[in-house]
Amino acid sequence: MNNLNPHSSPVTVAKFGGTSVADYPSMSRCADIVLADERVRVVVVSASSGVTNLLVALSAGVVDSDARLALLAQIAQIQYQILDDLGHPASVAARLDSLLTEMDTLSAQLAGTPADAAAVDALLALGEQCSSLLFAELLRQRGEPATCFDVRTVMRTDGHHGRATPLLDDIAALAQQSLVPLMRAERVVTQGFIGADAAGHTTTLGRGGSDFSAALLAEALAADNLAIWTDVDGIYTCDPRLVPSACAIPELSFDEAAEMATFGAKVLHPATILPAVRSGCSVFVGCSREPEKGGTWIRNRTELTPVFRAVSLRRQQTLLTVHSLNMLHAQGFLAELFAILARHRISVDLITTSEVSVALTLDSTGSDSGGRELLTEALLAELGQMCRVEVESDLALVAVIGNRIANTAGIGKRVFEVLEQHNVRMICQGASPHNLCFLVDGSQVDGVVRQLHSRLLEQ
Ligand code: ASP
Ligand code: MG
Repeated sequence: MNNLNPHSSPVTVAKFGGTSVADYPSMSRCADIVLADERVRVVVVSASSGVTNLLVALSAGVVDSDARLALLAQIAQIQYQILDDLGHPASVAARLDSLLTEMDTLSAQLAGTPADAAAVDALLALGEQCSSLLFAELLRQRGEPATCFDVRTVMRTDGHHGRATPLLDDIAALAQQSLVPLMRAERVVTQGFIGADAAGHTTTLGRGGSDFSAALLAEALAADNLAIWTDVDGIYTCDPRLVPSACAIPELSFDEAAEMATFGAKVLHPATILPAVRSGCSVFVGCSREPEKGGTWIRNRTELTPVFRAVSLRRQQTLLTVHSLNMLHAQGFLAELFAILARHRISVDLITTSEVSVALTLDSTGSDSGGRELLTEALLAELGQMCRVEVESDLALVAVIGNRIANTAGIGKRVFEVLEQHNVRMICQGASPHNLCFLVDGSQVDGVVRQLHSRLLEQ
């Protein structure tokens, strides 16, 4: 996309995750970050830490009214504590009260009709509305002109509740119309995760969707930078809780980051990279508690392009194997299989095929806002009509991420030497120069990852 206003000053969209806006002290640190940089014109926030989980619990329909009220009280406690720390300003208090009343009404309604997907989205969306309201007030109290902007007026999506698809052209047009003039005048604080369809019904983008929201807004505004502020100081060579010697990566390419977000590193929502790639916007990932530590920059090109950059892992993978003799010398079998998966809105991560079978893993991070199972009875029944289906669970997906992996001699040997003692259930390599993926038993994966990291990234 061209810069829609080439003479304007640079724009950064900054997103703060749930832990960054968990309470008043955390929000204050985010305000420091925003106020230190004039370029930050749009601030996207997640719900305060824990709030979306509580809303998800309510959205399932809590029939026991004491239990329902207890959940609501937990949310109110989190939000009112921040309000009190802000000195309880009357207009914000009134607005917060009305959001919490709406939570009460919707959760009571869902206790009677839990399957109402539109009401679930309306309920889940309230977390981000609370946090953005409070954060905008905090900026104003710091003497900064700031407004809380309802993102649903620009984040246009289709009507698929729970995991709506954003409509990019509409978002760009709407953002240019209403967000651009506003952000020039003051800082705009808005909600991640939520949107609205053309009829104005509230939708959500799926769990963890605030990163994606921020990336979509950055794209629509032709922003120069997207800053994702979270609770870790960048993207690491491996999960540091598992591998203490893992370190933050200063610079990653879009390609590498996309593989990492898809295959493990939970730091970024997997969909975040695509809008940034399309608009050429650089992405920064840093820790809002310790901004001085720096973080990871994700760009089109990086100075270094090492063969091994990181080892990612994703647990709780389900492997679906379908067998059918009809596949033998047949055409169109895969098309039919994928049509069924698409109808059930399932995206596939890894795939391998033989002459009469196809094995694939399902992308579980793309699950919907209510966290429902991907592998439904309905899907299995439909697949069962065309083939025999086998489901294996408790596998873990390991991805070795880097550059020229498909074109460098000796990679396979170096990786699989480490795996000598382990059963490798599936291997995928060759489609991308940036990864080599395989599945191992979930109970063995910690050791596998530690050894791989030490062999490939520490020598
Ligand atoms: N609050 C939403 C969630 O917890 C979205 C986000 O935090 O990105 O899933
Ligand atoms: Mg989050």
